[in-house]
Amino acid sequence: MNEDFEKSTGEIKKIEEPDMILMDSCPVCGSDWLENYIETNLTNFFFPVSEEIIHKVKKERFTLNICMQCSHVFQTNIEKDLLNLIYKEFYNHYNLDTSIEFQLIYRERTINFLKNVISAGENQKALDIGCGEGTYFSEFRKMGFDCYGIEPSPKSEIAKKKNPDAIISNEFFNNCDTNIFGTSFDVIMMNWVLEHIEDIEDFFDKLKAYIKKGTTLFIQVPDLDYYIEHNMPLFYVHEHINYFSAQTLCLLLKRKGFKIIDVVQGDSPALLVAGEYMGIEQKIIVQNKDQIIRKKDFIVNNEALKAKVKKIISKNEKIIFYGIGLLSFWISDFCLSDKDKEKIVLLDDNSYYKGKMVPSFNKQLQFFPDGYDLEGYTVFITTSPVYHDKIKENIQNKFTGHFQIATIKNNDVIIESC
Ligand SMILES: [Zn+2]
Repeated sequence: MNEDFEKSTGEIKKIEEPDMILMDSCPVCGSDWLENYIETNLTNFFFPVSEEIIHKVKKERFTLNICMQCSHVFQTNIEKDLLNLIYKEFYNHYNLDTSIEFQLIYRERTINFLKNVISAGENQKALDIGCGEGTYFSEFRKMGFDCYGIEPSPKSEIAKKKNPDAIISNEFFNNCDTNIFGTSFDVIMMNWVLEHIEDIEDFFDKLKAYIKKGTTLFIQVPDLDYYIEHNMPLFYVHEHINYFSAQTLCLLLKRKGFKIIDVVQGDSPALLVAGEYMGIEQKIIVQNKDQIIRKKDFIVNNEALKAKVKKIISKNEKIIFYGIGLLSFWISDFCLSDKDKEKIVLLDDNSYYKGKMVPSFNKQLQFFPDGYDLEGYTVFITTSPVYHDKIKENIQNKFTGHFQIATIKNNDVIIESC
């Protein structure tokens, strides 16, 4: 760490450089044969924010590497201050379950996955690491489990209120060297947690205190394979350190002593993997050339898509982006000039976002009433593809006039007239 001393005020003030974590080996297989995968400047907040914090939105350096042994993609040069800012401004407040579409698509699928793997939990304990508002406790309770949770954000208070029978800690899992509850668990769930973990080795070392032989571990993370299959170019954000695919997540679990029980993937950007702890860490040797080539091609293909999107937007004066998601930010960051951004109308229907500003565009999100006339507009659906059919139906039912709907699919822009 560099230290600088400012003497003009007569006092010695220490100016510290941002706290950086440098990753020099692959968190999945341990190899230090890494290559640069993506290096860019990336907007820091990828979600609508209040007017008070829109000035904190800026582009920050972002680097992804690819492991040339197992093909795992992960961040290097992680800046702690930036992550802390993102967590403070967003994750503390936002609950993904506020979106009805999110609930429909992810929640049922997760519950079905749980039920396929575990049947009953009488006299057994389930722990949800990163339990948020505790929305899965009711399912575990129905199966007979005693419920435990860890949630460092203020959402833990809501989880406690909704689940008075559950034991919930608001410690940071990573900060605790010993088991918070003093007991081991039969089932451990981690929804949308592992992609955020900066030090996977340390995390699994700490997890050992909570597991025993036979513990079932459920993991849900974004699925890089899905993003590649559907040509969704912006799959990366500052706060996601690891970009797993089924193959790399299973490798990691095997190395950490788990037997893979079930994998669900392909129908959603979320990868679900269940493993059973066997107690013996396995040495893994892997050379995954095909996956490395596939992941590298994906980045090259995105360049062609950028050019197509740019062309369509520059040719049309009346453009709407419907739904704020990774796609709207990708187009904004990589395809639009400031002049383009000015003409684009940003629409959404998630009431949580009412009155909020959209980073990168620096303007307010709008909500058009039913029956609004979209005559002559080209409406880009800019959320995740899992929502596209539902959103298309909503737009067609809600609005009037002759307009076009544009979706990005299979590395192309598909335009349909309505
Ligand atoms: Zn690796």
